Amino acid sequence: MSLVKTSPIIAIATGNGNAGVGIVRISGEEDDVKALFQKMFPGKEIKPRYAELLPIRDTQGQILDTGIVIYFQAPFSYTGESVLELQVHGGRVLLNWIVKEVLVLGKEFGLRQALPGEFTERAFLNGKIDLVQAEAVADLIEANSRNAAKAASRSLTGEFSNKVNALNDALINLRVEVEAILDFPEEEIDFLSEYQSQEKLKDIQIRLENVLDSARQGEILRDGLRVALVGETNVGKSSLLNYLAGEEIAIVSDIAGTTRDKIQTDLLISGVPFHFVDTAGIRETEDRIEQIGIERTKQEISKADVILEIRDIRDQQNRNKDSMQAALEMIKGKDVPIITVLNKVDLITSPDKNATEVSRGTIIETSAVTGKGMQELKSELLKLAGFSENQSIYMARERHIHNLLNVRESLKRAASYLNSNSPQLELFAEELRGASDELGEITGKISSDDLLGKIFSGFCIGK
Ligand code: GDP
Repeated sequence: MSLVKTSPIIAIATGNGNAGVGIVRISGEEDDVKALFQKMFPGKEIKPRYAELLPIRDTQGQILDTGIVIYFQAPFSYTGESVLELQVHGGRVLLNWIVKEVLVLGKEFGLRQALPGEFTERAFLNGKIDLVQAEAVADLIEANSRNAAKAASRSLTGEFSNKVNALNDALINLRVEVEAILDFPEEEIDFLSEYQSQEKLKDIQIRLENVLDSARQGEILRDGLRVALVGETNVGKSSLLNYLAGEEIAIVSDIAGTTRDKIQTDLLISGVPFHFVDTAGIRETEDRIEQIGIERTKQEISKADVILEIRDIRDQQNRNKDSMQAALEMIKGKDVPIITVLNKVDLITSPDKNATEVSRGTIIETSAVTGKGMQELKSELLKLAGFSENQSIYMARERHIHNLLNVRESLKRAASYLNSNSPQLELFAEELRGASDELGEITGKISSDDLLGKIFSGFCIGK
């Protein structure tokens, strides 16, 4: 525990609506929390982990509610500080009122309203959880699919952190060995083979790729895959999206142009979020408002991970040609896969039905009416998302991937220093140190106030 005094904090820990039960949480140094307890419940003995039904009073001594009060003594609490939980009736007015009255009672101890994520931040600062786990708390709360919740839960239990820490340990061991050799330059080469440094580095690189793979999938679960939808009006874009969604989320219409103003449709496919951005909204216009919308659509499309081109299978002229060209222009320089869907296959009878000029990439024939090809389309999208049900997925964020990619680059350079005819061991060790720091940033062993501020401000209050 730090020598600097931290003020006690208070917040409503439960959700926004009215509910049967609501929880007010207070966290602070042991003396403060105990003193506050005595003020709130005069004459009562404070017992850790003991649930007791007590009246919660305002500053005038009037009973506001009666609820279960539980005291968790430091360090055995969520934050690692002493924590007092008031489980009362879950009305917003009541809960806010209790917080306000307790704030008055606790003023002399410096009690204040908690900032977003401050309970979890204290848990991190007190070593109860690392940074990956802290982020997983927010991701678990915000998970919008079971897969996402499962991945967040896996990160929260420390599975992802353990993998990262194990990698870091291996890196440190290797560095220690190599640094020991540095004192005996004439024997470097022999030492290297004796300690199998190259093999060890290779092994670390393979393990890193596995972690990166799982983390990438976690990132997709969290942030989703962006799909640029190309297809002229009436080819069946909305119908296909509706079919994929299994419910009427996108608008389906026979009238040309009705879907034009929508920028993005979000769907969960097998629990993986997909963001479909329709390129049909892009056209020449003098309208200012419309231009802004078009600019946004263009930006979204330039970030696409996949192009999904939808054509009417009967369309021999390829009416999509121009819009396809425009979409490709927007993602120029990126290796974005293309899926071409030939829709309305139910409307043709002859086997020789393929439209001309089918673009590169995967081709799938579908019918949004009979459902033909839809499973194949789903699997293809999930495959491109890099999603596999069987792998352990960790809830990961862009910053984790960024660090892991930096580690990959460091290890690549490290390998080149080792593999040359005259190994450059100082540089090799330096790269390992850099890689190690990057891994430390993921779990928060190395962290800056800026980074912490950014992470915890994304939380809701009371967490
Ligand atoms: P969008 O403009 O590309 O979004 O096209 P819609 O999804 O609005 O579909 C246009 C019309 O084609 C509607 O009348 C749909 O019912 C119909 N449609 C869409 N997909 C199919 C399909 O696979 N088979 C048949 N027979 N009709 C379809």
